[in-house]
Amino acid sequence: MKAVAVFPGTREVKIVEHEAPRLSQPDQVMLRMLDIGICGTDREICSFEYGTPPRGDDYLVIGHESLAEVVEVGSAVNRLKAGDLVVPTVRRPCLHPECLACRSGHQDYCYTGDFSERGIKEAHGYMTEYVVDHECYLNLVPPDMREVAVLAEPLTIAEKALAQIFWLMQHRPPWIDPDTPSEERGRGLSALVLGVGPVGLLGAMTLVTAGFTTYVYSRELPPNPRIDLVAEIGATYISSQTTTIAQLAAQMGNIDLVYEAVGHSHFALEVLKELGINGIYVLTGVPGVQAFIEADPARLMRDMVLKNQVLLGTVNAGPEAFASALRDLDIFSRRWPETVRTLIAGRYPPEQAVELILGRPTGIKSVIAFDRAEVKGE
Ligand code: BGC
Repeated sequence: MKAVAVFPGTREVKIVEHEAPRLSQPDQVMLRMLDIGICGTDREICSFEYGTPPRGDDYLVIGHESLAEVVEVGSAVNRLKAGDLVVPTVRRPCLHPECLACRSGHQDYCYTGDFSERGIKEAHGYMTEYVVDHECYLNLVPPDMREVAVLAEPLTIAEKALAQIFWLMQHRPPWIDPDTPSEERGRGLSALVLGVGPVGLLGAMTLVTAGFTTYVYSRELPPNPRIDLVAEIGATYISSQTTTIAQLAAQMGNIDLVYEAVGHSHFALEVLKELGINGIYVLTGVPGVQAFIEADPARLMRDMVLKNQVLLGTVNAGPEAFASALRDLDIFSRRWPETVRTLIAGRYPPEQAVELILGRPTGIKSVIAFDRAEVKGE
């Protein structure tokens, strides 16, 4: 069967003939891949900056954002049946008995670093026709979310971050009461999203939905469809080319929350200087090698201590974040149907994967579809 693969040794990215998987354990499920999203991590992997093939293989099948249809289930599978739609998680646990995170099903917090990630690190991914996985890694998707569920994985980044933020907020006296309904948890608080890529835009939707007064700050200047999208969801867009972060901070008042989704270290640090009293700063971007810059760590440290600030890094996500991502995607689709549709730039055949991954982004989220009937214009 066909798969899109990267060969780090020979620095190639191409379509390969990959052996079709078979069910070999009773709790396994055979999946037909429907949609595979392309993201910045795929770009880094295909530029040979990141990504590792499984041991013994010279290539890695890429793809970690996906939606699939169950086609066959093992005898011990009881939650899923043929025809169900699922979104698989990405990370698989390490094997060390002492890793409390992996041993308790929280491999997104793996202590050893010996986890694998499908399509990223030591495990083949989803940009292929069929995949086999264990039932416990598959999240059931309601059938009416067929068109948008491929966005669930990138949304889990915000969901995992927000779950931690809300926990912190609820345990900090000036903030919220633990009994506050979820749709009001951000009421009266301001949030600043950095970046207008899919992670930033989905993060902004999550924050608006949670009631935060949300600003989005990035380089882009209008006219730009991403900026239109920010306005459609009721957030305010400010360009870093026309407004400095100090000016933006003066406009926003106390910045309660920053959700960074750019992966640019200099920019991230500049914004950290403006984080408000009791503010929480969430980092989600993974920067590549970047120019060395000077910083004033004493000032940062003084601010963080004297203003009770929190700096939080977050990566990957577990089943709770997938469940809340699917719930929120459903809310977004009802509240902003047109906007959510435009997040998906189009569905394209695997033959176009390499140019979509390495070329200039054409829309917000490009999706590879192996089923020709799903591909745009066919
Ligand atoms: C994926 C995560 C993964 C991370 C680091 C992201 O693009 O969404 O699942 O943990 O890359 O490899």
